[in-house]
Amino acid sequence: MKYSKLCELYDNISGTPKRLEKTDILAKFLKELADSDKEALYLLLGEIYADYDEKRIGISNQLVIKAIAKSTGTPNEKVVHEWKVIGDLGKVAEKLVSKKKQSTLSSHSEVTVQKVLENLRKLPDLEGKGTVEKKISLITELLSSASPKEALYIIRTLLSDLRIGIKESTIRDALAKAFFKESKKDAIREIQDAIDKSNDIVEVFEMTKKGKLKDLKKVHLEIGKPIKVMLAQKAKNIKEAFEAVGKPCAIEYKYDGFRMLIHKKGNEVILFTRRLENVTKQFPEVIDYVKKYARGDSFILDSEAVGFNRQTKQYTSFQNISQRIRRKYDIEKLQDELPVEVNVFDILYYNGEALLDKPFKERTELIRKIVKSSPYKIIHAKQIITSDEKKANEFYKQALKDNQEGVMFKNLTAIYQPGKRVGHMLKIKPEGRDLDLVITGAEYGTGKRSGWFSSFILSCKDEKTGKYLEIGKMGTGVKEKSTAQSGIGISFNELTEKLKPLITKESGKTVEIKPKIVVAITYQEIQPSPNYNSGFALRFPRFTALRPDKSPSDANTLDNVKKDFGRQKRNWRYG
Ligand code: AMP
Repeated sequence: MKYSKLCELYDNISGTPKRLEKTDILAKFLKELADSDKEALYLLLGEIYADYDEKRIGISNQLVIKAIAKSTGTPNEKVVHEWKVIGDLGKVAEKLVSKKKQSTLSSHSEVTVQKVLENLRKLPDLEGKGTVEKKISLITELLSSASPKEALYIIRTLLSDLRIGIKESTIRDALAKAFFKESKKDAIREIQDAIDKSNDIVEVFEMTKKGKLKDLKKVHLEIGKPIKVMLAQKAKNIKEAFEAVGKPCAIEYKYDGFRMLIHKKGNEVILFTRRLENVTKQFPEVIDYVKKYARGDSFILDSEAVGFNRQTKQYTSFQNISQRIRRKYDIEKLQDELPVEVNVFDILYYNGEALLDKPFKERTELIRKIVKSSPYKIIHAKQIITSDEKKANEFYKQALKDNQEGVMFKNLTAIYQPGKRVGHMLKIKPEGRDLDLVITGAEYGTGKRSGWFSSFILSCKDEKTGKYLEIGKMGTGVKEKSTAQSGIGISFNELTEKLKPLITKESGKTVEIKPKIVVAITYQEIQPSPNYNSGFALRFPRFTALRPDKSPSDANTLDNVKKDFGRQKRNWRYG
């Protein structure tokens, strides 16, 4: 397929703000999409591989600037200047390529979708000496033969900022529209299930094209391929939780760590986070625990990895172990200083059989059979099965005493639904004043903090529009000095380094930042406010931890903020 055809589609889709129209345009495209062109679907989502694949393009603004400069024969400074004026490197490329075309009167050779994918896919694999030059030449090769419009979209794809308003759910709805005549609702549900299991839009496209719902059910779990985890809803109190999940139910500790999915096949163990990131290398001790204490040729376990203090044996908070998720060096030292215990609470697959449709109780019983609990290594998540509110309350208190976040209530007969926030698993935690938010802007500091960002704009997601809405500015909780020694927290310069490659616009001292980084923050109060476009402002927001295991879509939403605000108001009223 010619890349220009895909660009035309991008234009048509971004030309309408209406979701239904976007779906219609897309459905028409999908109907005509040949099997040989199916990978164009990755590009439509702004990606180059399936969601389950960890490889991301990861190109910085600086590198893109160099590539635009080289391919259009423009000085670097001029590209930077244009960027400052226009504020979008894609548009800068469009303008400069167009200028070049006019001056050379060259007709461009045809860029194909396959060629774009081929070149972009080489980028994440490059390593070592000369990497930057090689990357620039791969991009330059594309830009040199691209039309202005193609250049715009190539650059936006490179920067993971396509801006056409297509989400996985848009493709899902369009697939249902294109290939199913009746029962749209059922089709949408089945397609979503297939996406959540496979995390591969192309695989789901192939299945959907056959037009039979039962074909979609053939999308299987695959060991070694990450799956989206099942998520919990929130309950106000124990009574409400019992009402939602029924009696008796299972109640478990809600551990304050991070989600870890453990895949095992033969002698190989692979670990994933809830973001589908492979963290196998970072946790060699977990591999040993699994091999030693969990029986079975193949399985997928769902668990929470929690930090503890080796001396006191007390559980620590997530904040303490967050660096273990990303750090790729000094693994042994970290493993020694920041040990984790794996708390297994679910099983999705065992010896060749998917267990998603089995009742939770059966899954839990299987865990007890195959995992030998070994404290401070790998254990069964602490659980009681009860109908008694008093017992539930005692268990909850004990969880808090043990430094955990709260408890989870789970319906005993419920199935496992990957990727869904379900009403049969509920969390209860104390009325905390904390939120997971996304950094969408920052401001350079002055004096001893000049050159670094010293305050950060926090945003929550509006689930209706998908936009990030500002809710406050945060500067406290971040450290002055590098945290390389202590390992806990983050300093201004470390956070600045993380955010710089994500800058999308600069004006004076303030910058806009691509929503990628999730931070856990605490605050004193939520107030209504005309100053931020969310309509709310946080009083005294304070940084507590980076959440590298969470993606912006896992962050708290405007709806969550409104609910917390409502709860806070009730508390004012009733003391
Ligand atoms: P939250 O991140 O506040 O939405 O809470 C849900 C998270 O709690 C899950 O994604 C897990 O990482 C974590 N969690 C801790 N203990 C459990 C448990 N026993 N069952 C399920 N999830 C748990």
